[in-house]
Amino acid sequence: MPESPDPPAFSKSASETTGPPASGKSESPLTAGRPLVRLGRLRRAHGIRGGLRLEYFGEDPRDLIGMRGIVLEPPSGGAPVPAKAIKVKISPPGALVALEGVGSRTEAERLQGFFVSAPRESLPPPAEDEIYQADLIGLQVVTTDGRLLGTADGFPDHGGTQLMTVATPEGKTLLIPWTDGYISEADPEAGRVVVLDAPGLLDQDWAGHAGTYVRFEVLTLFPGLFASFLAESLMAKALARGLVSVEIIDIRDYAEGRHRTADDRPYGGGPGMVLMPGPLCAALEARMNADGPPPLVVHLDPAGRVMDQALARELLCRRRLVMVCGRYGGVDRRVSELYPGLALSIGDYVLNGGEVPAMAVMEAVARLVPGFLGEKDSLEAESFSEGLLGAPQYTRPQVFRGLEVPAVLLSGHHREIELFRRREAAAATRATRPDLLDPDGPATRPEMPKGLRIEPESLTALDSKTPVSPGPEAADVTSPPKPGDFEISGE
Ligand code: SAM
Repeated sequence: MPESPDPPAFSKSASETTGPPASGKSESPLTAGRPLVRLGRLRRAHGIRGGLRLEYFGEDPRDLIGMRGIVLEPPSGGAPVPAKAIKVKISPPGALVALEGVGSRTEAERLQGFFVSAPRESLPPPAEDEIYQADLIGLQVVTTDGRLLGTADGFPDHGGTQLMTVATPEGKTLLIPWTDGYISEADPEAGRVVVLDAPGLLDQDWAGHAGTYVRFEVLTLFPGLFASFLAESLMAKALARGLVSVEIIDIRDYAEGRHRTADDRPYGGGPGMVLMPGPLCAALEARMNADGPPPLVVHLDPAGRVMDQALARELLCRRRLVMVCGRYGGVDRRVSELYPGLALSIGDYVLNGGEVPAMAVMEAVARLVPGFLGEKDSLEAESFSEGLLGAPQYTRPQVFRGLEVPAVLLSGHHREIELFRRREAAAATRATRPDLLDPDGPATRPEMPKGLRIEPESLTALDSKTPVSPGPEAADVTSPPKPGDFEISGE
């Protein structure tokens, strides 16, 4: 980060709204003339007595106790309703809150998704290294080279992604991910927010593309591979509802000659064919000239930035992705030089082509589109959404081959169940992905548990293609692990 303050510190700050969003409804007397600051969001009902899990944008959710003027703003607009927090308990990654007059789970469920807001004057001054997003609203948003983009006009949350909306002088709405990958500086005193210019990002118009959240265009030599991926399940539904759009483009349509050749032998020799620059660049040029915001070109490449949930969120904000699927030995380097974008890998292993990675990217991004998943909460409870792996899941039968479902899951005690799941999620994360718990440290992964490990000697033997009789460790790889081979330590 070139300049301070550091966005993650203030990304947890509160954001301001000026009463109900434009919904055609009249302004509530509760908020007339008093800008509201969004302090948090009620995520889901908790327990049976009306508790709610709260995502808090500020420093300490306990500040809500005794705060005057708190209102709940409906997520879809409409008049805010007055509220009073009577109990707040810290429960990472957020807090649990009890609200006056909300005494049952059914009442709490009705408030899921509501914003918890308060008038500006009710709030304590922000800590030294923090600012209220409210104080950024209306400020100029400029690029690092001084280009004026517009004014900051909101900090909405989309599928767990915090965004800043920018109103441009031309009447467009830009969406900028509120992360340090995109925000260079936010300074109310200097009167500006500085964003890093990223190709395509600043040319989109969110408002102008309401309906279809994200558009995928895939350049491939094997279009048929995508048929059932797009025709089945949630992806097919999202396409039918117009939430996402997908175009599969055959690179050979841009190749010349009777055989429509799109690959050739590599200069300098070596195995495998290489995708020629001519057909691919012609296909990319056609994409660039097509209607719509300038796309982000995604070069699927095992040597690229490794895909993770944060990148999926960033890609969602790009709204239009043109993905280049390599094959064989890869793609002529000049393609990415002429059409720079993001080189993206789905993991440190090599596949035959970019088609499976393209499907992985499409699915990871599309399921963040609001409305893609039937149940809104399913995004929140899964792996990585809260920085942890997901908890183990069970379904019927209650006993399967002698293995029983943990008794707590049958108890009906929502609090106990949630605690159990959090404990399991934390233990699994510590055991298999401790790097997730230590975002500042190097990504350290524990060794494969004994019994699933291939010893270095076996690898050497495999490399030299010498037939070897499997040693005891290698033999374990093919047989399922036995109880006690590895353990997930408890908290
Ligand atoms: N020779 C290339 C190398 O060493 O990096 C590998 C080429 S690979 C066999 C063919 C194509 O598959 C790549 O150009 C890329 O588009 C795609 N691909 C393979 N593994 C991938 C991964 N892990 N992530 C993204 N794309 C991948």
